[in-house]
Amino acid sequence: MFILLLGAPGSGKGTQGTILAQRLGLPKITTGDLLRAAVKAGTPLGRDAKKYMDKGQLVPDSVILGLIKDELAKPEAAQGAILDGFPRNSAQAELVDRTLAERSHRLTHILLLDVDGDELVRRIQSRAGIEGRSDDTPETIRTRLQVYQRDTAPLIAHYAPRGNVHRVPGTGSVEEIATEIARILGQ
Ligand code: AMP
Repeated sequence: MFILLLGAPGSGKGTQGTILAQRLGLPKITTGDLLRAAVKAGTPLGRDAKKYMDKGQLVPDSVILGLIKDELAKPEAAQGAILDGFPRNSAQAELVDRTLAERSHRLTHILLLDVDGDELVRRIQSRAGIEGRSDDTPETIRTRLQVYQRDTAPLIAHYAPRGNVHRVPGTGSVEEIATEIARILGQ
């Protein structure tokens, strides 16, 4: 199973992805975490990515596409994975489609975590207090939500013809949403 978690910043992709990965015994691939680790380690990729992350903009595909390819090529992801935080635009979506197709796989489920704008801002702000992320400032939050609408939300239309996009209402407790996802996946 290759499951894509799609949703705006603050929609709960990370939280639900972690629950799902544990339940299904699949690796969760999270580009945001990989980038934050690279920034922390001070690698050239991390230094490059930080400039964009601090502004709430997407890290360029010249950096991201290689990262995605490497992660999908790992043996632990051979039979399935939870994709969290990517693809974020059409070039990334094409790469994911192509890479999986080369191995006779495809995205089996696309879960759209649907949370309204005010609630997203509230959640990101409360997370900022807990995690201390440098990109959780009010201005960056606004940019990240705009970037989501412009570059990532169109992927919903890209995937819709496949008939495996499932809208998950993102309001409710973490457990309620996890139960709804389990129901959708038939688990
Ligand atoms: P996230 O933790 O998913 O909200 O990502 C935090 C930041 O990392 C984003 O605002 C982007 O700057 C960058 N980022 C994460 N994933 C991607 C991706 N797939 N493509 C481009 N930039 C990304």
